[in-house]
Amino acid sequence: MRTITILACFFFLPAVISAQNDYQNERNRMVERQIANRGISDEATLDAMRTVRRHLFVPPQRTSQAYDDSPLPIGYGQTISQPYIVALMTELVEPKPGMRVLEIGTGSGYQAAVLAEIVDTVYTIEIVESLGMTAAGVLEENEYTNVLVKIADGYHGWEEYAPFDAIVVTAAAEHIPPPLIQQLASGGRMIIPVGSPYFTQNLMLVEKDGERVRTRNVLPVRFVPFTRAEE
Ligand code: SAH
Repeated sequence: MRTITILACFFFLPAVISAQNDYQNERNRMVERQIANRGISDEATLDAMRTVRRHLFVPPQRTSQAYDDSPLPIGYGQTISQPYIVALMTELVEPKPGMRVLEIGTGSGYQAAVLAEIVDTVYTIEIVESLGMTAAGVLEENEYTNVLVKIADGYHGWEEYAPFDAIVVTAAAEHIPPPLIQQLASGGRMIIPVGSPYFTQNLMLVEKDGERVRTRNVLPVRFVPFTRAEE
């Protein structure tokens, strides 16, 4: 009997340990070293980055790199952004409970999940159908019931649910799409990388106050291009 117990422990313990390895230590370390250390201080953002299991949003063969200080390929020539950039974009739109946020460029669904930890509802649009479908699956499996995914060209925003308290664009556009400015609520903030594809772009913060729109450059960045559906 004792032998059986010992054998059972021997065989099942590693499985139990790996099922429980939720990478919480890796996430805490990521937040401390890559994010808080570089000046991100919004508690809601830091908490969300500690909570969302980034390893579930990367392809299975990338699990061990999920908490690295870099972007990672997610297929179709696209990438999941570096953790610091996700945190920075999140902090800059000043997410709060009760807000409705539009994201353009669902990709893996990770940025949407981070926002969904803080705000009321996230509306996210992806142009590559298989990426959007995969992300919607991961979000659903992990009970992110407050994220709505749509497959479309995000240039036109999501009129049906506008206005949005914040807009996060995660692909580099040559200009700020006018429909997105229109769909931003007064008092709302949009963060968007603007510039030529394949070159360094500027991460821009757009603030709307009534009819007045102010923009400022935050940081040089490199994002995958904002593509357009043929019309
Ligand atoms: N936010 C993502 C990062 C994805 S990379 C994440 O957390 O993983 C940018 C994504 O924008 C890519 O998946 C790309 O297919 C998508 N994209 C590019 N142009 C788009 C457009 N016009 N509308 C919607 N999505 C677009």
